[in-house]
Amino acid sequence: MDIIIVGGGIGGLTLSLLLHRAGIGCRIYEQAPETRPLGVGINILPHASRELAGLGLETELTRVSVLTREAVFFNRFGQLIYREPLGRYAGYDDPQYSIHRSELHKVLFAAASERLGADRIFTGWKCVGVTQDSSAASARFRDAVSGEALPDQRGDAIVACDGLHSAIRKALHPAEGPPLYSGVNMWRGVSLWKPILTGASMIRAGWLANGKMVIYPIANDADGQGRQLVNWVAELQTPTYKKRDWNRPGDIHDFVDAFGDWHFDWLDVPALIRAADTILEFPMVDQDPLPWWTQGRVTLLGDAAHPMYPRGSNGAGQAILDARALTDALVAQQDPLAALRAYETVRLPFTAEVVRMNRKNPPDAILREAFERTGDKPFQRVEDVISNEELVALSEGYKRVAGFDRQSLRTVVPPGDAHDAQ
Ligand SMILES: Cc1cc2nc3c(=O)[nH]c(=O)nc-3n(C[C@H](O)[C@H](O)[C@H](O)COP(=O)(O)OP(=O)(O)OC[C@H]3O[C@@H](n4cnc5c(N)ncnc54)[C@H](O)[C@@H]3O)c2cc1C
Repeated sequence: MDIIIVGGGIGGLTLSLLLHRAGIGCRIYEQAPETRPLGVGINILPHASRELAGLGLETELTRVSVLTREAVFFNRFGQLIYREPLGRYAGYDDPQYSIHRSELHKVLFAAASERLGADRIFTGWKCVGVTQDSSAASARFRDAVSGEALPDQRGDAIVACDGLHSAIRKALHPAEGPPLYSGVNMWRGVSLWKPILTGASMIRAGWLANGKMVIYPIANDADGQGRQLVNWVAELQTPTYKKRDWNRPGDIHDFVDAFGDWHFDWLDVPALIRAADTILEFPMVDQDPLPWWTQGRVTLLGDAAHPMYPRGSNGAGQAILDARALTDALVAQQDPLAALRAYETVRLPFTAEVVRMNRKNPPDAILREAFERTGDKPFQRVEDVISNEELVALSEGYKRVAGFDRQSLRTVVPPGDAHDAQ
């Protein structure tokens, strides 16, 4: 089999590595002419990190990331609402990585170049359409810089891993509207900062109405003096927004006042924000789940299939799980059409639930509950506001839907056991 992968982001590169391990041929076509350090922080949870470990990438990922130790939730007065361990610290076999997206991308790209061969990764190829007949699928491309037409590429199947603004999703579902705005805008940055709390804490604080922060370190000892790269996201209900672009610069004056009095004994939030070199802005958007992803020999994967709010650290993880499921289906079925259908049957309903859960009750629902029950006031004792059982139920409920509760992970076949052609 020969699979054409459109998009060499997190999902496309992981798919190429899994297919290669299974002995299935593939080629990657990526529109970016070169890989540049784009984006900011991203999290890989144990359900996805086990797949990356199965690909032999754990040592390298550990070197360039922070192994997240705990999740901590505070109100906007800096009072602790809830704390729970994460990753290996919570008893999982695999870690939770907090990592700069470009570092994750570099690790995947280097592994793909080495294992597939650089001649199977085409950069600067922008996909502009797909066609198919009874024997093959064909992708049309243009040079991403000059705009000139490039030769069509034929394969047994095409997998669209071309992200949030997927050209192939648009071709399959031309009547679908633009991404749906949640009413929340986000500003993101990375600051050089001394370790906060445990030095490996994922902090969520405040609530969207007045301003919410997500803060976590993504690289240790970034300056040789023990300071870390600390990723932060400021989220604020905002009536208007600009189209999502991963690289749109943001203006600190649009949001910093919401956090002006967040001077806690464990962190000075306005100072952290001001320490960032650059600020990016993007709206929190998603799409309604699609009724189908697959048309014959063409299917969708990752953000192209199921863009979701980044409220559960699951965008990259679900793309990685898609890649695993699609590889398993291609190994199990001789016929690529049947394999693509089988993959969709497993993954579409599952990821649709994650999209819905990210709207309704992602982990930060803990903050919403505290905000609403206190009327946005400081509390004397958190137990008077919300019980520990309720907090655990909110957190565990999300893990079950997204597939990273410990029980679900115990029942999944570990990577490499189902198919290991090497
Ligand atoms: C530049 C960039 C920065 C990001 N920064 C962050 C971040 O800071 N934090 C975070 O949580 N998430 C970030 N994301 C999103 C995150 O990587 C995805 O949500 C998640 O990893 C799902 O992976 P994916 O492979 O589906 O999509 P992505 O990782 O977004 O990959 C999609 C790939 O397809 C390529 N592509 C798009 N259109 C075409 C086309 N027509 N032809 C060929 N190739 C095409 C893109 O260049 C990209 O490499 C970023 C994505 C990008 C592209």
